[in-house]
Amino acid sequence: MGIFKRKSNIVFLFIIFLLVAALAGVSYFAYLKNNDYKAASKELTTIQEENESELAKVEKRIEELESEIAELETNSDISEQEKAELNSQLQSALEEKARLEKENSSLKSENSLLLRRKALQDAIRLNAVKQSDTAKSGVCYLTFDDGPSDNTLKILDILDTYNAKATFFVVGTAKTQYLPKIAAKGHAIGLHSTSHKYNVIYDDIESYLTDVQGISDIVYKKTGIRSNLLRFPGGSSNVISKNYCEGLMTDLTKRMPNLGYAYFDWNVVSGDADAASVPAATIANNVLTRAKGKKSICVLMHDTSAKNTTVEALPAILEGLSKMGFRFEKLTAETFGFHQNLNN
Ligand SMILES: [Zn+2]
Repeated sequence: MGIFKRKSNIVFLFIIFLLVAALAGVSYFAYLKNNDYKAASKELTTIQEENESELAKVEKRIEELESEIAELETNSDISEQEKAELNSQLQSALEEKARLEKENSSLKSENSLLLRRKALQDAIRLNAVKQSDTAKSGVCYLTFDDGPSDNTLKILDILDTYNAKATFFVVGTAKTQYLPKIAAKGHAIGLHSTSHKYNVIYDDIESYLTDVQGISDIVYKKTGIRSNLLRFPGGSSNVISKNYCEGLMTDLTKRMPNLGYAYFDWNVVSGDADAASVPAATIANNVLTRAKGKKSICVLMHDTSAKNTTVEALPAILEGLSKMGFRFEKLTAETFGFHQNLNN
């Protein structure tokens, strides 16, 4: 009896030891992960500060050159030779100014990229700590893929009526002339794809990066916005990319955040792409049913010329979700979430 008791005590102590060891291990890894982001964030801040001081120097030099040029221009009491000499000085001063301005603007864009990366690192760190809680409770993020289209203006009008903000994940082959209007109405523009051709974009990492840069440049040219919001064609959980490049999504879902992009999937499917034309009532019903019991939702819809019933369903969706207590906001990099499980 005594021996049995001692044995069970030993087993009990051993189990406790295992539990404590497991807990310590988990805490240590959480600590390491958090520190990784801290170190990266600190490094980015340092580079950014260096950039800013360089930028200040460049700007000061430009100011000096400008006053020098102004002086040269106002001096009228001079000989031909002096004039020629001053003119050549003026020419080289202007060239120097142009060079510095170019340097200045590239520093500025470098700087804004760093800021984006830092913001995203912070968002990722928060996400690691709070898990799925990063998306605010009671918020609905309506998202429209594959636009702009002939339906965009109608969608914008309906959103206006309900004072709702949404996010448009746009493609390069669509009616990009509507991009400025989307931006002007205060909605978010996210990058979806330049071509949306799976066999092209998912061929390899380089192809994907080229495709993202393409749509980024189109959005920038039309709106002056460098978007850092991303939605992978087919979502991060797509299996189609496996046909072209094994493990691509596993790589891209790590790589793109490190490049300063926040990617978004969805947790409510409207089903508007289930058939060529899905009845508006079905789309509305899908959204309202699938939103039930969720704290925050990201709804997948499509903005293409063929999807008239999505537009028809929109008022019922906005009213139904409002009644359920949702408010409608646009995605930001800090929302960073709604990620699905990877399949490639
Ligand atoms: Zn799409």
